Amino acid sequence: MTIDNELRIAVLPGDGIGREVMDAALTVLDALQQKIAGLHLKYDVLPGGAAYYRDSGVALPDETLRGADEADAILFGAMGLPDVRGADGTEIVPQLDLRFHFNLYAGVRPYRYLRGTPSPLADPRAETIDFVLVRESTEGLFASRGKGVVEDDAVARDMLVITRATSERLFDFAFQLAARRKERGRPGRVTCVDKANVFASMAFFRKIFDERAGRFPDLEADHWYVDAMALELVRRPWDFDVLVTENMFGDILSDQAAALIGGMGYAPSGDIGDDHALFQPAHGTAPDITGQGKANPTAMILSVAMMLDWLGRQHGAEACTRAAIRLEEAVERAFAERGLRTCEYGGPDGTEVVTRAVLDALAT
Ligand code: ATP
Repeated sequence: MTIDNELRIAVLPGDGIGREVMDAALTVLDALQQKIAGLHLKYDVLPGGAAYYRDSGVALPDETLRGADEADAILFGAMGLPDVRGADGTEIVPQLDLRFHFNLYAGVRPYRYLRGTPSPLADPRAETIDFVLVRESTEGLFASRGKGVVEDDAVARDMLVITRATSERLFDFAFQLAARRKERGRPGRVTCVDKANVFASMAFFRKIFDERAGRFPDLEADHWYVDAMALELVRRPWDFDVLVTENMFGDILSDQAAALIGGMGYAPSGDIGDDHALFQPAHGTAPDITGQGKANPTAMILSVAMMLDWLGRQHGAEACTRAAIRLEEAVERAFAERGLRTCEYGGPDGTEVVTRAVLDALAT
């Protein structure tokens, strides 16, 4: 029997702890489906990743690309293994291929302090950290991926690309996100992070940002240079709302930002385009802790909540919106009430304990 309003999720567990945190997330999602009336998701688990490449010579088989294309959303663990490399010596990173393939231009990385975790920052205001980094994910310096050149073993060149079309969509996305957050009491401010004082590409990026800001008169818009932002993010991260930036800058700032809330195991993400979206924890496959049951599944579980929220808006699926809120609350309660200590804090609470705590919070 098929269910009328069933949504299809392409599940790509990948490699290393990607598989472990995906198992945890699906267990939580199963429990959520029991709880939320009208939430009907069907998983289609698809192969891919570095281990798959080692065995087959391809990282993302056609069936996976097709399955991801046809699904309503993509849920992704992590892919890549340090000893599995392509012919040019670089690591296998199919997650980048998926961003380009499905034109997932907006890399959305929310950073929110979880009550009950020991903040890495001494200032009590760290408990109010709640900002989102929107990283352009299909161009910038990464447009050069696979196209860089080394001439005569003497000079290497990579090219940074900014297009008006992608930048306009990216900035509109960031302003719309800030507007939704403003409804929840956030400031409604978008900050463009660039290097407009040095590079023509970045001055162009900022010019388009200012143009688009004019279309959102109810929101604030400001700018920071990326080097200054690196400092401010450590000094007063609680003052920011939505940051929008170029691909490479976003790559670096997003790892820095994860450290402000406890580490990569706490940082969810969504790679969002006009027709497709992929949700994954911000961390990689963490070969150093794979197979030990230590991986913190929080980032993966919060990525599921982001997926549900997106599905709710994209498909008008009200059950998904309710499920997203319920799941976020369960994660918050699990940490606030249990005093969990994950391995990022040198604690003993691994994948199973954190998953159980979230399931318990969902049950009550
Ligand atoms: P990539 O290049 O794919 O981002 P990486 O090796 O640079 O991968 P990660 O795999 O994210 O980075 O790991 C970086 C560090 O963070 C490792 O020490 C890893 O053990 C730790 N780490 C990452 N994810 C988690 C997690 N979910 N729980 C606990 N520790 C984690």
